[in-house]
Amino acid sequence: MTISIQETWAKACEILKQCSESRSLDLWLKQINPSLLPEDKKKIQLEVDNEISSVWIKENYEQYISDAIKAVTGEEYKFVYKIRCDQNLEEPTPPKVKNNGSKTANKNEVFLRNELSPKYIFETFVVGNNNNMAHASAIAVAQSPGTCYNPLFIHGGSGLGKTHLLQAIGNYILHHKNNSKVVYISSESFTNEFIESLQINNLYNFRKKYRYVDILLIDDVQFLANKERIQEEFFHTFNALHGARKQIVMTCDRPVSEMQNIQERLVTRFAWGLVTDLQPPDVETRIAILNVKAKTINVTVLPEVIDFMAMHIRSDIRRLEGALLRIKSYQDLTKKLIIAKEAENLLRELLSEEAKQVITIEYIQKVVAEHFDIRLADMTSRRRPESIAFPRQIAMYLSRELTQHSLNEIGSAFGKRDHGTVLHACKLVKDRMDVEGNVRETIRQLEKKLKG
Ligand code: ADP
Ligand code: MG
Repeated sequence: MTISIQETWAKACEILKQCSESRSLDLWLKQINPSLLPEDKKKIQLEVDNEISSVWIKENYEQYISDAIKAVTGEEYKFVYKIRCDQNLEEPTPPKVKNNGSKTANKNEVFLRNELSPKYIFETFVVGNNNNMAHASAIAVAQSPGTCYNPLFIHGGSGLGKTHLLQAIGNYILHHKNNSKVVYISSESFTNEFIESLQINNLYNFRKKYRYVDILLIDDVQFLANKERIQEEFFHTFNALHGARKQIVMTCDRPVSEMQNIQERLVTRFAWGLVTDLQPPDVETRIAILNVKAKTINVTVLPEVIDFMAMHIRSDIRRLEGALLRIKSYQDLTKKLIIAKEAENLLRELLSEEAKQVITIEYIQKVVAEHFDIRLADMTSRRRPESIAFPRQIAMYLSRELTQHSLNEIGSAFGKRDHGTVLHACKLVKDRMDVEGNVRETIRQLEKKLKG
């Protein structure tokens, strides 16, 4: 560089401003104080106000800055960032929720209290074979956030305890280190808050709120699908936090490999740390959960009724709780203990909902093979004539629609095929249903038969 870095910078800024009409670029540039690194003449240090700025500038403008500087000096430079100081950042604004009115609550409690439910703690989470890995990982993260598994990504079907575990992490950290900034938010609320902040022109506060936390617990990230702008925002939030070794925990209703319509760079990041899953509980765990819940809501239930519920409600713990509440209100009303036979009547609706859940892939394969009059073995074979391939694809599609199995599980049940094959089959069947009435009708009949 023959002219000084300050002159170079001034010229580069002129070029940048000519290339972009954006007022915000000007604001970002203004705060930058460039200097040459004495130890490496090919590096320029950009001093910026805070971490948000560094992430933002790096992601959005670094390439342009680099080009502009090359235009001035004819040379390529690399950039490093230095944060000026953060002192002028105020505390993040608390979410717009009512504080319980307690004046003594410290700031963090105000920040969080209304978001985390005190019910969801590790002590009330029943551990079984289905969830012990996820549980252990959650404890590890709660004990030393930001150090071991970052991010932690917990996936599993509905009602299997994702939110419970996620909030248990938050409650644990607050209990043990109550000046940590813990934020729990569903990705839907995150989206809504982001949109609101855009509308009232308050993006800065939004970013301050989410990029300066110690622990971000974000529930149901599948809702980010198809939302480009919010994915972009979350990407930067993620980077700022991860870069600062702040803990991120996410939950999702499906495995990372099955996320669709989410930017690849985000999906990659989801799997950077530890990915763990929650499976449906086995019958012993279901009994244990029912006993714990019965104690919590203070109801006595005959063991035969507990067994009956545990045997018949398998796929969703929320539904088990619903059944228990039902029994409780009935008993409260009649003032006597219900027996298993009565429970069956009382829970009829819940049980028929449940029946839908227990359709198995094997059963689907059998029904579809019978319908098309092909051999059951062809469901898993490699044979590819249309008369076999299409029924097989329909069976994959129905497995996807009517069971809780993941694409990978479905694939392997159909002769060790991969999840891409299943995805392709589902799409193909859907497309044909859109245009071919008879395909639609076939699927309708099969569904009716499968659901009994
Ligand atoms: P998800 O977020 O996966 O849909 P939730 O965390 O909301 O599921 O769980 C649904 C209900 O089931 C909650 O009331 C939760 O307390 C309860 N629950 C789930 N898993 C367990 C468990 N292992 N032990 C005790 N309760 C559980
Ligand atoms: Mg949930």
